[in-house]
Amino acid sequence: MKLTISRRIGTFAGDRRMVLLLILAACLLAGRAWLAAHPQHDPWAPLDLRHPVGWATEAKLRALRDDVRACRAVLERSDIAHEVLEPAGEGACRREDRTRLGDFPLSPTIPPVTCPAAIALLLWERDVLDPAARRIFDSKIAEIEHLGAYSCRRLYGRDEDHWSEHATANALDIAGFVLEDGTRINVMRDWRGEGDEGRFLREVRDGACGSFATVLSPDYNAAHADHFHLDMSARWRGVCR
Ligand SMILES: [Zn+2]
Repeated sequence: MKLTISRRIGTFAGDRRMVLLLILAACLLAGRAWLAAHPQHDPWAPLDLRHPVGWATEAKLRALRDDVRACRAVLERSDIAHEVLEPAGEGACRREDRTRLGDFPLSPTIPPVTCPAAIALLLWERDVLDPAARRIFDSKIAEIEHLGAYSCRRLYGRDEDHWSEHATANALDIAGFVLEDGTRINVMRDWRGEGDEGRFLREVRDGACGSFATVLSPDYNAAHADHFHLDMSARWRGVCR
């Protein structure tokens, strides 16, 4: 009698282990299937800009900053129209990575920037600018007015200081926006305004910090009273102000 009971307990414990293993295996399979359906959360899935931003996106974007080939592969994979230009410049202003987006509402021209900066611009336009323009103004973005990307100079044009991210076109200065309905939004004029324009500007400045490493606005200092400075500096999550 005693022997039968202990045998039964033994079998019961074995069954329980088996059930736990089965549950674990089912969870792993479900997890893998879920990641396959949500590649934006999968750290091993190659980055594709057609996917929404997910938990794994920032780490993947970060890795691209030191890897031009991988960055260009992302543009190819994501079917983004772009042009790869010959390197140019000398010394601290040598630009090995000159990538020009093919179809993008930058105005008056689409300047070549680094590939990571191009990707940050794409994400900012798609996930921040366009949704904010539709929500606040019920219109699409027609033009993003910029003041330039490349400028061979040190910070604030000083003789001795760190080189500006503009020296390698790893940055872009944005002065305003034009919407499809003709509305003009200007950083200098509208930044402190109480109206929709001011609200739009402050919202898209905050949103730029999700894809760019550094975001400087009129809140930062007087030198940025008329534009947003956006760059992909090596230190990730630098200033966002
Ligand atoms: Zn700048």
